[in-house]
Amino acid sequence: MGSQEVTTEFDWQSMNITVAGLGVSGISAARALAGLGASVTVVDGGSSEAHRERAASLEQQGISVRLADAETFPEGTDLVVTSPGWKPGSPLFLAAAEAGVDVVGDVEIAWRLRGPDAAPWLGITGTNGKTTTTQMLASILGAAGLRTAAVGNIGTPIIDVVQEGDNAYDVLAVELSSYQLHWAPSLRAHSAVVLNLAPDHLDWHGSMEAYVADKGRIYEGNRVACVYNVADKATEDLVRQADVEEGCRAVGFTLGTPGPSQLGVVEGILVDRAFVEDRHKQAQELAEIADVNPPAPHNIANALAAAALARAFGVPAAAVRDGLRAFRPDAHRIEHVADVDGVTYIDDSKATNTHAAEASLAAYESIVWIAGGLAKGATFDELVAKSAKRLRGVVLFGADRARIREALARHAPEVPVVDLDRTDTGAMLTAVREAARLSEPGDTVLLAPACASMDMFTNYNKRGDAFADAVRELGAVDG
Ligand code: ADP
Repeated sequence: MGSQEVTTEFDWQSMNITVAGLGVSGISAARALAGLGASVTVVDGGSSEAHRERAASLEQQGISVRLADAETFPEGTDLVVTSPGWKPGSPLFLAAAEAGVDVVGDVEIAWRLRGPDAAPWLGITGTNGKTTTTQMLASILGAAGLRTAAVGNIGTPIIDVVQEGDNAYDVLAVELSSYQLHWAPSLRAHSAVVLNLAPDHLDWHGSMEAYVADKGRIYEGNRVACVYNVADKATEDLVRQADVEEGCRAVGFTLGTPGPSQLGVVEGILVDRAFVEDRHKQAQELAEIADVNPPAPHNIANALAAAALARAFGVPAAAVRDGLRAFRPDAHRIEHVADVDGVTYIDDSKATNTHAAEASLAAYESIVWIAGGLAKGATFDELVAKSAKRLRGVVLFGADRARIREALARHAPEVPVVDLDRTDTGAMLTAVREAARLSEPGDTVLLAPACASMDMFTNYNKRGDAFADAVRELGAVDG
């Protein structure tokens, strides 16, 4: 796969750098680059009180900030550093391209700031499961006694982590978004995984092809293993197209019985047939399904992917088991809220697209599904058709609920649907009450909206919190 290589080594002290965006990653990049002696200007289209406060703090460090204009290309710029939300077609970047100036992201800067003995990176991308897999991997690496951190698209900005010095870590578990990969041409991971590929963020990338190509960049230059999802052929195709170091292996993960060079599941045991002496005859037990938290099918896939990267780095089997046992998922990801009257309430507010919602609907047998919000251009036919037999009932709210209702009418006409016809925050309480009414003992009430939350809530966290509050109001006993 052709990757545009930015060839020159940077001499930071002589550079005029424009940083696009006054958010977390922009501020971290600006501070780091100014600290290296570059002349830095941060530009942002906003000019709110919060923007002015952040600007004032950066200006104290000698960084220039231009508010209320995200478009004009500052004269004399040698390099533009982007922030995740900025689209490739943003006028500032088009102007940079016209002036022959490189545009890169925070990951590229971090990669270039590493010293010769810096910790290798194990890279994780995919449409869904990135954060979970990255944290599982960090937990496994930690259980092996390695100094590590889960970084990148989560938590501490990656530039800050790299600036702690070459000796601070043995290895990093790096979550990489498609945006970050798009703007990181010289990144070369030790090993990497693309967990899965489904349409998402197409408004940013322009097309599915462009989105997939950006995800595939994570395999470029891998040294030890390119890990792919056996059930998602597109991920394997990306491995085949990548330019990797001599000797780098393709390693698959599967929920089925693994073939040679794969990790998979045999009779409830996670097994490795890739990183063993004789992969044609041997299999190494790693952990039990019960060690994965929660043991939903998609999460077992995440665990296998994390295990594959850890094994590629030489981690022993026992550490995979211990790391998986120690792992606790973040809030709002298939989080058990409570059991009320024999019904289990699960918060998967993080299921903000149809692919994620499909995975969580697949994890339960009989479901009252709470869904709706901002569809981001998605269609729901496939999701509803695949999940119809598990649905006891559906409660809908949010701006684009009609699309889900129509898909239900087409593919699950017998399932009762309550359309709340509401987009206010308080609708969650009604939704949970309606779901409780539709449910029967043994059912799961599942908040897996398949949509973004911003039409009704500040973010998916707040949506999940509202769900949990509403469940407690039902008179829940914490379960
Ligand atoms: P990301 O960081 O990629 O957004 P998360 O680990 O935060 O991923 O999980 C996001 C959502 O995707 C969760 O709500 C979960 O239900 C779903 N999910 C997690 N792993 C997978 C997977 N392997 N396949 C499909 N959906 C998944």
